[in-house]
Amino acid sequence: LKEHNAKSLWHPMAHPADSLANPPTIITGASGVRISDVDGHEVIDAVGGLWNVNLGFSCQPVKDAIAAQLDVLPYYSTFRGTSNDQVIQLAEVLKDFFAADGLTRAFFTSGGSDSVETALRLARQYHKIRGEAGRTKFLSLKKGYHGTHMGGASVNGNANFRTQYEPLLPGCYHIPAPYTYRNPFHESDPAKLAQLCLQALEDEIAFQGAGTIAAFIMEPILGAGGVIPPHESFMPGVREICSKHGILLIADEVITAFGRTGSWTGSRHWGVQPDFMCTAKAITNGYFPFGAVMIADAVVEVFEQDKTGRAAIGHGYTYSGHPVGAAAALACLKETLRLNVAENAAARGQELHQGLLALQEKHTLIGDVRGGHGLMCAMELVADRASKSPIDKQTTATLQEVTYQNGAMVRVSGPNIILSPPLVLTAQDVQGILSALDAGFSAVR
Ligand code: PMP
Repeated sequence: LKEHNAKSLWHPMAHPADSLANPPTIITGASGVRISDVDGHEVIDAVGGLWNVNLGFSCQPVKDAIAAQLDVLPYYSTFRGTSNDQVIQLAEVLKDFFAADGLTRAFFTSGGSDSVETALRLARQYHKIRGEAGRTKFLSLKKGYHGTHMGGASVNGNANFRTQYEPLLPGCYHIPAPYTYRNPFHESDPAKLAQLCLQALEDEIAFQGAGTIAAFIMEPILGAGGVIPPHESFMPGVREICSKHGILLIADEVITAFGRTGSWTGSRHWGVQPDFMCTAKAITNGYFPFGAVMIADAVVEVFEQDKTGRAAIGHGYTYSGHPVGAAAALACLKETLRLNVAENAAARGQELHQGLLALQEKHTLIGDVRGGHGLMCAMELVADRASKSPIDKQTTATLQEVTYQNGAMVRVSGPNIILSPPLVLTAQDVQGILSALDAGFSAVR
């Protein structure tokens, strides 16, 4: 298998030659919060698939819903004057779920990158409909991740995801993230740093001209950039600044929606109502590629009152509103609420965060520990704590391997070890992840 894999597959984010030199682990099964591989290991999946398998891998009601829907209506488009009962039901359920976020309408997509692209495109349409065609630019955070489409890559704040694809969309600008461990202000106090970043946002808006900006897009807690939770004043501050200048706020909640932060959405976690919310991943728990952009009432009204006749023209996907995806999402949402996974994420997230802080006391490679908001945590590794000099790749690779041999799959992303396990994790599973990591760190000491 490993040889065939190397000869025929081009893995995401890997040079083809990497597959030969460093073959991937072939995963053969998954059950509950555990995965197993072709070599006979069975480990806790502390990555939760890829931030998406909130309910674990054995969700019978979702499997049943998918099977039943396949027999009735496996596919029909929602494009050309047609719709289906599953997608209508799902929109109704999502409306209730996101009512506290002020989001009332759903636009369906096939995944996170599609959801981001949709929000960016609808934001531009919104301003055009209102007669403000000059509002075309996008602002975002350095270290933010917004998927792989050209719009999403343009608002991405991480050079690794941008430089190979330039020139990207013109008119996209980035402000410093509220990242206390490293920032251009050398400010480690979260509240003071939040104010400095907000000032940077105000300055950028003044520099660009508020009337040229369509939207600001941000993750409520930065995920792929290394799990960076801002100070509680940050996102409300962004909301206030955006509202003052007529700029739409897009919350990219592809990771944070549906309970991961310990609240049902990341925006709600910070007490903010965005204009658009991008969701995907956990909406179907990995069972089906699917996403939804939730849209605020005030934005919907502008589209509904459109006199140009051009609203919503030219944007949609073959699989927008896929009936099987919608059936899967309906079953997932029901399970998500029945199991109250947000509450478990908050409790287990505290245990995991405390456990990582304890590991930091013991292992000097751990420069920074971030978490405390549900089940998204990270450790930033350094070769030397005083200078914060970055860790070498070989050390993180060995650490990951030994951790895996000791019972937990963790994600290495640059200098960060990222943890985003299923939200149905038990306290015992948390200890399992921590002891596997302890063994990993002991091996690279
Ligand atoms: N936005 C965020 C915040 C993400 O984390 C991701 C995926 N990790 C995406 C967008 C893109 O989602 P997808 O990979 O489903 O296209």
